[in-house]
Amino acid sequence: MQADFDSLDTDAPIFAPGAFRLSDREADLIAKARRFGRRVLAPRAASHDRDATFPIENFRDMHDEGLLSICVPREHGGTGADFKTYCLAAAELGRYCGSTALSWNMHVCSTLWSGALADDLEMSAADRDAHRARRDMHYRRILDNGAIYSQPFSEGGAAAAGGVAFGTEARPVDGGFLVKGRKIFASLSGAADYYGVLCTERREGEAASRRNTLYLAIPAGATGVRVAGDWDPLGMRATVSRTLVLSDVFVPESEMLLPRGVYFLAATRWPHMFLTLSPTYLGLAQAAYDFTVAYLRGEMPGALSVKRRMFPTKQIAVAEMHIQLEQTKALWFQAVSEACANPSKQQILRAYAAQFSVMENAHAIAAKAIRTCGGQAMLKNLALERIYRDSRCGSLMLPWTAEICLDRIGREALYETGETDEQ
Ligand SMILES: Cc1cc2nc3c(=O)[nH]c(=O)nc-3n(C[C@H](O)[C@H](O)[C@H](O)COP(=O)(O)OP(=O)(O)OC[C@H]3O[C@@H](n4cnc5c(N)ncnc54)[C@H](O)[C@@H]3O)c2cc1C
Repeated sequence: MQADFDSLDTDAPIFAPGAFRLSDREADLIAKARRFGRRVLAPRAASHDRDATFPIENFRDMHDEGLLSICVPREHGGTGADFKTYCLAAAELGRYCGSTALSWNMHVCSTLWSGALADDLEMSAADRDAHRARRDMHYRRILDNGAIYSQPFSEGGAAAAGGVAFGTEARPVDGGFLVKGRKIFASLSGAADYYGVLCTERREGEAASRRNTLYLAIPAGATGVRVAGDWDPLGMRATVSRTLVLSDVFVPESEMLLPRGVYFLAATRWPHMFLTLSPTYLGLAQAAYDFTVAYLRGEMPGALSVKRRMFPTKQIAVAEMHIQLEQTKALWFQAVSEACANPSKQQILRAYAAQFSVMENAHAIAAKAIRTCGGQAMLKNLALERIYRDSRCGSLMLPWTAEICLDRIGREALYETGETDEQ
């Protein structure tokens, strides 16, 4: 039996609107996400985690709440949340169900990247007009029918890290493309209505280039789309991230989520786009801390109401967790607040540092929560055990894994663009 979250008094906003100078509109949207997370996501999280099933009912309810269209621009009928507001709302969902928040991120990015980010990037007037018309079709599917988009990019090679062109290829044919390839860790596989696939447009005899990356929405029901393999991972089990096999799938040109060349442009000019996996894990860090405080106070539903807060060792552990959480929040809030086109070198380094800190610290805080609360706290009737497993996944997520962040910070801090040590 999962703990009753409604009776927990631990869900003050992660970022208090006054302290973090949020506008009323931002605060309202974020509060809506928090209330939704607590009321709807938390009670369903344990069973989907246990069975590794996708929480499709959460997405149906998100449609009713307008959360599927949170980043659809207002001119297209959506809520028009910006990057920062989205990140803060996603962190609130992550507190209650990591898998749902992470899957929601895949969906929302299809609207954020084609919406606010694309509006920030240069493109010809003709491309801009064609893009507006195409994205309106995608947004109408979401607004009218609750369509769900996913984001399968990873292939198991160097492409998802940004090193080489995607091996999944789109061959131009009359009216569209024939897409062939294989995507691993395709969260929402079997549940999404459209797979937002990154692939390389390649004509006969042409070399593969990252500049020719296409971002296509492939209908789940299209001929040649198949979900393969099983899904029985350590954490984030309800994302159901199985393998997507694409065998010469015909995709009409209207399914382009970004015009030609714009994904490559976004990846180089709007690098904070890759920070969007981090909010979920910030929410998990907050959840692990909140759990510990409630547990030590003897107020955790589902656990014995024994107080353990009087022991100095517990107080020191909570103080350390608090400091680590506040450090992480401060850095992350700064990074998501300054996301923009063409950021400075210091802003990019800060984004890597924020991503690294959230992903590593979320798990460190969850691990300390288990050590501090003790054996009974890691039983599966309580949420901490799931938080601990889910939090382990953050550092592994491309393109900004913890190792890649370290690698880039070290190199980019020491070398200016084009500098080498050759004499
Ligand atoms: C729960 C979950 C859900 C996911 N959902 C999605 C999804 O919806 N869509 C999607 O596209 N992907 C998704 N992923 C996949 C994820 O982003 C990674 O692609 C995946 O974890 C990579 O696994 P791998 O073993 O192939 O990593 P590898 O590519 O083998 O890398 C292993 C490690 O080597 C290091 N490394 C790799 N390349 C470099 C480099 N160039 N420089 C320095 N170090 C490097 C990294 O630290 C990396 O962690 C998901 C992953 C998880 C855990």
